[in-house]
Amino acid sequence: MTHETDKAWMEQAIKLAMSKGKSPQDTPIAAIIVLDGKILARAINQTEELCDATAHAEMMAFRKAGKVHGDMDLRGATLYSTLQPCGMCTMASVWAKVGRIVYGAGRDDVHRMYFEDRHLDTMDFIKDAWREDLVLEGGCLKKQCAALYFKPDDDVPIEMQGNI
Ligand SMILES: [Zn+2]
Repeated sequence: MTHETDKAWMEQAIKLAMSKGKSPQDTPIAAIIVLDGKILARAINQTEELCDATAHAEMMAFRKAGKVHGDMDLRGATLYSTLQPCGMCTMASVWAKVGRIVYGAGRDDVHRMYFEDRHLDTMDFIKDAWREDLVLEGGCLKKQCAALYFKPDDDVPIEMQGNI
């Protein structure tokens, strides 16, 4: 269940995402990490700019948050992401030990190109993790977030589909 404060943070994440552009072609994905009501890190997807397949918004946010926090252990923090984290970012969330992941648009709200696996879902990674305290909550400002991305039935050119 998402709360009003979650919506406020997600609004900030949406604004940050839109700083990249408002078209799905601009890859407007953003993540914010919040601990004790304060932002530890804000980041956008920079895979193309950095020529780095791991430069997803969440990964960039973890890198920044660790430095600010002086510790890679982000226990008690919440990761906000405009799009459901992929497998890599979900695993990084487990390693970073965030307490909650709150995302906007989910797998079913967007084109399949945003996810690396046909069937494995973020939920599956989390269900099987040793971290039993990690909470995953989707659908926070889902419509606004989903509007940033290619829709499930969009005819996306194959060269733009990063997962194949
Ligand atoms: Zn990712």
